[in-house]
Amino acid sequence: METKKKDIRALTKEQLRDFFVSQGDKAFRGNQVYEWLWQKSAHSFEAMTNISKETRQMLEDNFVINHIWVDQMQRSSDGTIKNAVRLHDGLVVESVLIPTETRTTACVSSQVGCSLDCRFCATARLKRMRNLNPDEIYDQVVAIDNESRLYFDRPLSNIVFMGMGEPLMNYNNVLQAIEKITSPEGLGMSPKRITLSTSGVPKMIRKMADEEVKFKLAVSLHSAIDEVRTSIMPFNATFPLKDLREALEYWYSKTKNRITYEYVVWQGINDTQEAVDALVRFCKFAPSKVNLIEYNPIDDGEFQQASETALKMYQDTLEKNGITVTVRRSRGKDIDAACGQLANKQ
Ligand code: SAH
Repeated sequence: METKKKDIRALTKEQLRDFFVSQGDKAFRGNQVYEWLWQKSAHSFEAMTNISKETRQMLEDNFVINHIWVDQMQRSSDGTIKNAVRLHDGLVVESVLIPTETRTTACVSSQVGCSLDCRFCATARLKRMRNLNPDEIYDQVVAIDNESRLYFDRPLSNIVFMGMGEPLMNYNNVLQAIEKITSPEGLGMSPKRITLSTSGVPKMIRKMADEEVKFKLAVSLHSAIDEVRTSIMPFNATFPLKDLREALEYWYSKTKNRITYEYVVWQGINDTQEAVDALVRFCKFAPSKVNLIEYNPIDDGEFQQASETALKMYQDTLEKNGITVTVRRSRGKDIDAACGQLANKQ
């Protein structure tokens, strides 16, 4: 009976070196293969041309490379590209390339489906199937970097963890992926160009702060009033705003990294002066800025984007209080690549 082959990219460099030594080969061979696996992002052992045929066969007999596969690519009229990414076990996640004049941003997934239940989000309608492995996250970034070079003639410049899933519910794998993305042995990207977006898991925010990570943090706040937030993001009952706030204060004290609050203003939910005032108070706990996101309707209209007047009230009140606010218009709507719409329809 054939035993299941191991995913070679689950091994550290050290483990790979040890493996070669145990095979009577040189530890250095481990470095060469590691470079093929990460820096050169090889899809097969066959591609490793500076490794002997026998060694490649031996690797083939012992391991697999569970590389992702871009199954389908859709291009929006505004240049946005959405990838349906097939995983080795047949599950599918989505990733998005968002071009602007000066940047290319990759929006990547961290889980298949999501265990949180945000009532306005399309991914929440899918069951959480599993966490993505570090290499599956890394591969999404590599695929988008290749697309950026091919279609826009420049490398990828930024990464946001705003695709499917809650990154802090897959903490270890996401951090390992970021490690590989930033390492000179991987893509060598600056951590300052990476933003992890979370619904806000206080314990994990503290853990990241303790590890003094260098990437940026965005928190999907949407309301600074517990009652309202719980009604649209039910897990807020378990992690109330007070816990979140304390974790964020801790984050800032450790990292000195300003926090971005992502915020959608909905009709009849948070389009009141009281809601803005609560947000202003929340923003004063730790240095932060607010990103007002345009809502992308996902259903029968239970949630609707607030009026321009309400948006203006938010902008004016925040600015009057010295809080930086930006308005993010949606991209890739015509291909369902917009924020919160990543729930593949296959
Ligand atoms: N779980 C993480 C990352 C994925 S969601 C998080 O919650 O941050 C990425 C962003 O899209 C979050 O700010 C989320 O609140 C927002 N979002 C979800 N559904 C949306 C929708 N239909 N329209 C606009 N933004 C949405």
